[in-house]
Amino acid sequence: MAKIQLKNLKKVFKGNVVAVNNVNIIIEEGIVTSILGPSGCGKTTTMRLIAGFENPTEGEIFFDGQKVNNLGPFERKVGMVFQLPILYDDLSIQENISMPLILLKKTQHEINKKVGEMCDFFDIPENLLKRKARGLDVAERQKVSLAHTFISDKNVYLLDEPLSNLDPRNRIEIRSKIKRYQNEARKTIVYVTHDQTEAMSLAQKIAVMQLGVILHYDKTEIVYDYPQNRFVGWFLGNPGMNFIEKVIWEKEKTSLQVGNLQMEFQSIDDERKGHQEVVLGIRPENILISTQPKEGYFEAQSDFIEPIGNRIVVHLVARDIKVKAKIEKIKDIKKDSKIWVKFPADRILLFDPKSGEKIYPMN
Ligand code: ATP
Repeated sequence: MAKIQLKNLKKVFKGNVVAVNNVNIIIEEGIVTSILGPSGCGKTTTMRLIAGFENPTEGEIFFDGQKVNNLGPFERKVGMVFQLPILYDDLSIQENISMPLILLKKTQHEINKKVGEMCDFFDIPENLLKRKARGLDVAERQKVSLAHTFISDKNVYLLDEPLSNLDPRNRIEIRSKIKRYQNEARKTIVYVTHDQTEAMSLAQKIAVMQLGVILHYDKTEIVYDYPQNRFVGWFLGNPGMNFIEKVIWEKEKTSLQVGNLQMEFQSIDDERKGHQEVVLGIRPENILISTQPKEGYFEAQSDFIEPIGNRIVVHLVARDIKVKAKIEKIKDIKKDSKIWVKFPADRILLFDPKSGEKIYPMN
């Protein structure tokens, strides 16, 4: 296992396409770090730079403090799993899984033990082992590919959208197998995905990327609760964060003018003075709802109800404000119901309207 540092990393492709732009992160040992972002933001290129399949235009890559820019993928000891699993179709599943250990000239006893462990973790039935890989369905192929990659010790395992081609049921099942394996084996994994649910359920740390730049890199819960800018708040969550424009932050009065509403807002340990136009951000699940008038709540109307599993998303309209609240199913809430709403002061974030950067809370 290795700690990986990416320092001022930049990759420019022909035609002046800047795929990765001045990335600076340290990938910690023994955890899952997810690189999350929309299509074309530079996730795969970052991963290929770590692996040694691409050379950076600028910047350095260190594994445990050793510069590896001049080393190829084999010397960097990286394991990789791709969206489309690569298997030797004419070899048996047993041979596919054990191949890295055969190449390392491990004993048959050791190989059998390790293959057994991998089959347990990734739920590959023993009666499949003698079969050829050709003809396996895509989920089975991906399980074999994961077993093949994790069977040998590497500095880092790079997983590039490994679940994107699977149906939703297999995606959830294999995701939990990767999670369980990680909990026990404590491997250093970099997990590339555009799926925020996948990133949040697997990764201890997330790097959110847009247009080649890492916008926010921190522990998963911090990236979710305190996104560094609007894009990160919007990209994570189902639905993403609500934003209300043209809010006036009256700092000394510790209040917010939200449309026609005056809202109490206790800024904690914040010495800033004056007033400022800001964008208010609040997560749908942090909005409080009452079906009766209540102290500190403002009146709104439900405009639309969307069921999401055992919860509902209520689209609320209060004068000129529109937000979505994610709440438990309440019988009394229907379309066009009167509803009373509160944004808890400690769940409010404020963003700069021009840059989109978070300005409150400061850290
Ligand atoms: P996706 O999720 O769609 O794979 P991504 O976030 O992984 O996207 P990259 O594949 O890293 O993004 O691509 C980042 C940018 O670099 C894109 O604009 C892409 O078109 C460009 N790009 C990637 N590889 C090359 C290449 N070999 N030559 C030229 N441009 C490239």
